[in-house]
Amino acid sequence: MGRIIVLLSFIITITSVNAQQKITYLLNKQADLNKVTVQITFDALPASDAYLVIPRSAPGTYSLTNYMAYVDDVVGYTTTAKQLTGMIGDGSFFMFGESNDLLNKVSYTVDIQKMENDLLDAAMSSKARKDYLGLFGYSVFGCIEGMETEAINLTINTDPTWPIFSTLRPDTHRKYGADSYEVENYAELVDAQYLLGTGVQVIRVEEAQIPLFVAAYTETTVALEGIGDTGLSSLQKLADYFGYVPMPHYTLVYEFLKPISERHDYGFNMEHLNSMTAHRDISQEYHPNRDLGTILHHMGHSWMPLRSWGEGYRPFAWQVAPLVETIWLNEGFIWYVSYANILNNEEIVNWWKSNMATAPDFIKTKTLKELSLLGSTQYASDFRIGKNLFSRGALMAYDLDEHIQKQTNGEKSFKDAMLGLLNWSNKNQRAFTYNEIESIMSQTTGVDLSAIWNTWQKAPK
Ligand SMILES: [Zn+2]
Repeated sequence: MGRIIVLLSFIITITSVNAQQKITYLLNKQADLNKVTVQITFDALPASDAYLVIPRSAPGTYSLTNYMAYVDDVVGYTTTAKQLTGMIGDGSFFMFGESNDLLNKVSYTVDIQKMENDLLDAAMSSKARKDYLGLFGYSVFGCIEGMETEAINLTINTDPTWPIFSTLRPDTHRKYGADSYEVENYAELVDAQYLLGTGVQVIRVEEAQIPLFVAAYTETTVALEGIGDTGLSSLQKLADYFGYVPMPHYTLVYEFLKPISERHDYGFNMEHLNSMTAHRDISQEYHPNRDLGTILHHMGHSWMPLRSWGEGYRPFAWQVAPLVETIWLNEGFIWYVSYANILNNEEIVNWWKSNMATAPDFIKTKTLKELSLLGSTQYASDFRIGKNLFSRGALMAYDLDEHIQKQTNGEKSFKDAMLGLLNWSNKNQRAFTYNEIESIMSQTTGVDLSAIWNTWQKAPK
């Protein structure tokens, strides 16, 4: 099957609120381009101090992705209407020369089709089709260094026949051609997904305790209700387990795609604050009920690590793919909660053990922290690393659960350790340090967990 060449162009403008200028996203569909044009307007600063940062990674991706390779035509605009050409810096950023001219706007283009062709992991790339543009925030939106915490006000204008959906404010009643959003900061802007076009379907799932949506682009026939049912079941199970739901709303974003090559991988999914994204190869049979574990896992991330996290995860160093020491916790604890505590899957412990037993020596000889540092950029690209990280974290959770229940005659369990971490983060609103994790869990359960903690820090071999 030939692939439809997508010919779209978009202009997106961001303006910081305190500059008293409205941020405007203008998405202009053109007949001869398949690129996104991004414009960022901000409080003026000397051109020599302005750096346009393009993300190289995002929380939870545990990968290093050279998104700058798809960025072109970078231009800075001065308050006196001079144009300065963006020059590639010594990292994932552009510079605008040594002048003191005041710069208050930059623009650039992103080649979405080149991105999708180059990035073999479908979970890392935005997509463009003749009736669809699916954007991961971090794959297209850069920021001016130092302005990451500023509020953003965005407006999207696109073809009048195209409806606009964003996980920032999900709704089945989509506006056509134009919409706008208030965003607290850059991290929130890039954590969101933007689904535009007549090819996007949206349903709301009734009877959920928070507004729950499925938004999908499908290149085959898929009943979204099945995904919605599985999503509702996941949400109810997680709400029952944790006793509360921290998300104001939630969207399951699905893409059902014809593989663009045999090498492209549609197996990975991503979690976000109030959404998850899943990609499916339509040449393979799809049964939404088989996604229960996957949806539980990714939705569970909305509790941890998205609302209880270790150092490196947040605040995030966008231009470097930061080192994260707690990937085993981010992934393993939620694997344990979803598959062992909630689904009572009795086989899963043996699978985690076999992942550890069959690992190559370069993994077996690494301590927990060392393996997490390695996984910070290579979690999925060598999935033996990823599997080993979540297996070690889940097996530590299994040992903790058994010990806590035994010491408290069943009055407390691993769930109390999880709630302890969540409450701690809610109260402190910062990343916990590595050395704080065990003491938070021991304090909240009233059980000394140091022996289990220390055992799991060591390399298996
Ligand atoms: Zn995960």
